[in-house]
Amino acid sequence: MKLTAALGACLLIVCTALIAQQAPNLGYTDTPMQPNGKWHVHDPARPQPTVVTPGGVESLMTPAPADATVLLAGGSDTSAWSMTDGKPATWQMTAGVISSGKGMLRTKAEFTDVQLHVEFATPTMVKGDSQDRGNSGVYLMGAFEIQVLDSFQNPTYADGSASAMYGQYPPLVNVSRKPGLWQSYDIIFTAPRFKPTGELDKPAVVTVLHNGVVVHNATAFYGPTQHRRIDPYSAKLTRGPIVLQDHGNPVRFRNIWVRELKDDN
Ligand code: MG
Repeated sequence: MKLTAALGACLLIVCTALIAQQAPNLGYTDTPMQPNGKWHVHDPARPQPTVVTPGGVESLMTPAPADATVLLAGGSDTSAWSMTDGKPATWQMTAGVISSGKGMLRTKAEFTDVQLHVEFATPTMVKGDSQDRGNSGVYLMGAFEIQVLDSFQNPTYADGSASAMYGQYPPLVNVSRKPGLWQSYDIIFTAPRFKPTGELDKPAVVTVLHNGVVVHNATAFYGPTQHRRIDPYSAKLTRGPIVLQDHGNPVRFRNIWVRELKDDN
């Protein structure tokens, strides 16, 4: 009996070690607590967003309205973009679809309050787990990331899921389509406001629809996005580019347009 128990214990240790070796990284507990004191940044215990199957087979192209600035449309025109170091855009684009390449892509123009439409597809061929599967991102003002990830049957820390306000809020629900299919983000973003003293007056606020479903409802960013922490607001953050992230995974984008929202009503 004793021997059986000892053997059992050994097996348990070996199995646990093997699982630990193979399991993808599902979060961190050595990161700071978020300002509301509920969760660590990238907390593995934070509940996974409920899966909701979006309507339709894949997200249809949503044409730009007349007053939008088209950032990515047909053909191979990347003239609205550069690399974040200011060099010409090197991501490859054909037939209106751009594939992520080495380095981050930014719009040459800078924006404040916007409505932004983005279509993306993670690779059909599934490779990697957790944060290493179809990872990219859409940054507002070059500072606030809405996560792009293949979150179809791919658990990761909740605040790193597709359409998460990365490191801060998971999406209200997981509306991810299967890998390879076109998906859409419609983002309504209000830039932060600062007092003349440079103190934060109002934080950045975002509403996001993923495949037509609300996943953030006028939610405030705690601060600019970072991995494993949250940066403090800086009064320099008054405007900035839209940035597409290179996270080493091939992700495709198409049909990106933006409407600047005026604040003078
Ligand atoms: Mg990302």
